[in-house]
Amino acid sequence: MIRSWLRVLWERSRPIDPATATALRDRWLDLPLGVRTPAQLIGRHTPGCEGTHGVFPRCNLSCTPCYHAREANSVRTDVEHTVAAVDAQMALLRRLRGNGQHAQLIGGEVTLLGPEGHARALEAMERHGRKPMSMTHGDFDYDYLERLAIGPDGRRRFRLLRFAGHFDSLMLGRRSIPRPRNEADLQQARRTFVANFRRLRREHGVRFDLAHNMTVTPRNLGQVAEVARSTMELGFGMASFQPAAHVGNPRRWRERYADVTIDRVWAEIERGVGTRLPWQHLQVGDPRCNRSAYGIVAAGRWTPLLDDRDARDLRTRDLFLDCCGGIDVARGPVVLAVMTARVLARRPALLPAAAGWGWRLSRRVGFWGLLLGRPRAMTFVVHAFMDAAVVGPAWDALERGQVAEQPEVRAAQERLQACSYAMAHPQSGRLVPACVQHAVLDPEENLALRELLPIVGQR
Ligand code: SF4
Repeated sequence: MIRSWLRVLWERSRPIDPATATALRDRWLDLPLGVRTPAQLIGRHTPGCEGTHGVFPRCNLSCTPCYHAREANSVRTDVEHTVAAVDAQMALLRRLRGNGQHAQLIGGEVTLLGPEGHARALEAMERHGRKPMSMTHGDFDYDYLERLAIGPDGRRRFRLLRFAGHFDSLMLGRRSIPRPRNEADLQQARRTFVANFRRLRREHGVRFDLAHNMTVTPRNLGQVAEVARSTMELGFGMASFQPAAHVGNPRRWRERYADVTIDRVWAEIERGVGTRLPWQHLQVGDPRCNRSAYGIVAAGRWTPLLDDRDARDLRTRDLFLDCCGGIDVARGPVVLAVMTARVLARRPALLPAAAGWGWRLSRRVGFWGLLLGRPRAMTFVVHAFMDAAVVGPAWDALERGQVAEQPEVRAAQERLQACSYAMAHPQSGRLVPACVQHAVLDPEENLALRELLPIVGQR
């Protein structure tokens, strides 16, 4: 009995899942040489993020722009289709990328599934070793959330729910405010979204991890700073900004988006947070696609986890990625303690390095801030999708094994090769970048889905 318990403990406390370790090594070798830097996290700490596609294309809000193909709203939301497709896509992701990855339950609007169907989709993702995050416009009531988290038998279905709420003034049709004039108009909707999760935690003990998404166009670029500041105050753990791209439904493109560069959006976030947001020392994929700043908010002030100007912090990063990259710390306390002991036994140098880093971080945050400032993790992200006009030729050339001659298409090829956001195709056994999914594959996929799942009364 004790021996078998010890064997299970030993198995579960293995620092890195072997399938994940293999996926990391393969991904690293696949990356273009230009992004294989000491700062790179893809292939060293994570194979990247994942998302579903074609599982519930329909949405009941209208975004300008909208990344979904024109036909998406002609496809019926159907729970059986969703669960089967999610299951197949996650099975392939597990086979190719190991366990413990973050996967977005994304497509159209997830809450159109209803709480039962939504719960079944999340359970399918967890069964395949994913950490699911539901992507929503956030226009739902507490009752929906409670029925998602608590089964009909009154039992808690999930200990932790991860949600990303998309709130911006380019979205039309929200029940509380159908035509917001600016980002400030949505402040109450953001507050209600977070309040519902707090209530769920209070009443049922379900923890939450919330992200805030915002699409940025010339129209709302000047309001990014205010949104960044308010997400810190409201309790989101991540604020992600997506400069708009010409992809998806052309009827929903209203402006010229090229001027909203990743640099300009980043500068606005820094203005809102009130400090420099260092990002170059921790890179996810290609810097033209992604920028992230990982930090702690305490007493209303944001502090980076690693100081990019301190050589000791950079050495700690290198040591960590060298011996702990790919480790998943989302485990029970006993398993986590045994796993930590095993890691330290293998690399004792980690202990003084971690202690030194912890000391420096405490000093940067401030001891009073740590004690009384309600410290919590807060990440700022910009993810810049590409225009369909460059993704199409870039993907075609990659499929033919050619390097494009046009500089902008070649740049798109490099970005696709370093992509950090994959979608799975079980029929072909392939993973494709989300840009390719939206720019190249979605239109045809949605035409087929429209035949398979027609909306009643409509062909
Ligand atoms: S989905 Fe597109 S923008 Fe995002 S990381 Fe992949 S290639 Fe870059």
